[in-house]
Amino acid sequence: MNTADFVLTYGAYSRRSSEDYEDRQVASIESQERELKEVKERLNLNVKQLVSESRSAHTIGRPVFNQLLADLEDGVINAILTYHPNRLCRNAFDAGRLIYLMDEGKLLEIRTPSRVFKNTPEDKFMLNLEFGISKKDSDDKSVVVKRGLRNKIELGWRPGVAPHGYLNDRATESGHRRILIDPERFEFIKQIFQLKYKGVPTMEILRIVNEDWKFKTRPKKRYPSEPLSCSSLYKLLGNPFYCGKYFYSGQWHEGAHEKAVEPDIFDQIQIMLGDKGCRRQPKTHEFAYTGMVRCGECSGMVTAEEKWQIICSKCRNKFALTRKNSSICPECNTLIEEMDQPRILYYSYYHCGKKIKPCSQKSIEVTDLEEQIQLILGSIEISDFFLSWAVAEIHKDLESEKDFREDKVKSVQRAHEECRSKLDNLLKLKISPLNSDGSLMSDEKFKTEKQALETELTGLEKQLNEVDNRMIQKAQEAVDKFDFAANAKARFETDDLAVKREILSTLGSNLTLKDKKLDLQPHPILNAIKKIREEEPKVSRGVEPSNQPFTKAQMDAFYSSNITVLRGRESNPLPQDYALNLHYCKGRTISSPCTGRYGARRVVSTGS
Ligand SMILES: [Zn+2]
Ligand SMILES: [Zn+2]
Repeated sequence: MNTADFVLTYGAYSRRSSEDYEDRQVASIESQERELKEVKERLNLNVKQLVSESRSAHTIGRPVFNQLLADLEDGVINAILTYHPNRLCRNAFDAGRLIYLMDEGKLLEIRTPSRVFKNTPEDKFMLNLEFGISKKDSDDKSVVVKRGLRNKIELGWRPGVAPHGYLNDRATESGHRRILIDPERFEFIKQIFQLKYKGVPTMEILRIVNEDWKFKTRPKKRYPSEPLSCSSLYKLLGNPFYCGKYFYSGQWHEGAHEKAVEPDIFDQIQIMLGDKGCRRQPKTHEFAYTGMVRCGECSGMVTAEEKWQIICSKCRNKFALTRKNSSICPECNTLIEEMDQPRILYYSYYHCGKKIKPCSQKSIEVTDLEEQIQLILGSIEISDFFLSWAVAEIHKDLESEKDFREDKVKSVQRAHEECRSKLDNLLKLKISPLNSDGSLMSDEKFKTEKQALETELTGLEKQLNEVDNRMIQKAQEAVDKFDFAANAKARFETDDLAVKREILSTLGSNLTLKDKKLDLQPHPILNAIKKIREEEPKVSRGVEPSNQPFTKAQMDAFYSSNITVLRGRESNPLPQDYALNLHYCKGRTISSPCTGRYGARRVVSTGS
């Protein structure tokens, strides 16, 4: 198509997005337009319209650009004047639309100050290339920016401007900038939270901050330093960033910055702020024991729930916070925010989820549940003295079994070799010329015997692999459990939910809750430790060996009869072959496990 046949009518289009990283280097809309006007004058172009928008071209749906395309469709214009092809689009869809309009003959020319793209195969190829580059540019940069941000978030540094009391670290390179405390203001911020926690009304805090402390905000580019405003104070008190958490790109993150207030205090402050507080996200609160305990009545899962109650400072009425009411006393209509030091009560309950069938079980408070766990942990707690004795004993035991283990391996190896040669002989006999008519060994008989020998062989190989590892594993497990018994009670006194959870699950299995009583099947070794403790109280922690002499000799004497307990073997029955080994270990002779059944057939095989 010859474009010279048509009179060109231009639509001039300018664009710059303030939010796009790669548009930061691009000239402003005003200077783009100035440039386009200059081109128009110089070449005396017929420019029908001069339009602009400050939108990103990554995604489709720019209204001004869409109107430009509609005008091309309708033949109002048939050419585009723009600063650079990347002003027109940075996505494949819009690029395709422009090229297609050229193919259809509705767009005859795209002109920029430096070059012209006409409706020729070469120019369209170049134009496509330009569009491709601007798209790749945008893809690359968004990958880099996203990666940088993700990295930063993973490290716990919230992107963006640091709130009052913190500083953005400007010294480090972008993407690695931490959030530091503002040494001039951080202590004040901490005090603000403490005042609110003590129940001081927010307006009074504002007065203290600005009049008594003469607090001034950190000056920023466009905002000079000034006293804290009322809305800033509310925003500050409700900002979870101060208790170490922040919400970014759809989820909560644990910040790496220094906390100004502890999370549970922050939670209480939000209650006191009523409607003006930060809406607590139900997902942020986790419970330690959900999903691991079943109801003793209906076998349904036990779930958790939390509840906040307030005692009104005016009328002493106690009321629960609900979704509908989180800000006012229903009795005297006093706002929680205006109460003078209201009492806040927090409860966390566990109860049957009642999802399987109707169930009569009542809920139990977490403190009650944890008391019961503490009691169990207390019943197995052992002294460090006993712990080190037991661990040494287990190691000694393992060492003494070393020779046995080696003997056992040898005997199994021997049996393995014998079995192999029997299999060889069986085969030799089968294919021997003497057996050509099957008189010595029928097909049927060969098949059954071969199968039996092969099964035996596999069994022996398995035994060979297990014999060494299993004993060491058992010993290690016993050491771990003794260590657990010595330290779990102290470890349980933590706020770390994961640790509490791990401790409860180590204690035993089949955890149930019935009539507010926690029941479980204790781990066999822990159960044994409990028994030892009952028989010999000196084993337990808190009995100083120096106060009440409890010598190693006494211990040895006491437990020599009970060594299996130490190994954790007592109530954990072993496979039969393994149990037999324990007898061998006590000094009996080891007999080859591969005798008897095939012993008689030796006659057959040696005959060949
Ligand atoms: Zn139930
Ligand atoms: Zn009241």
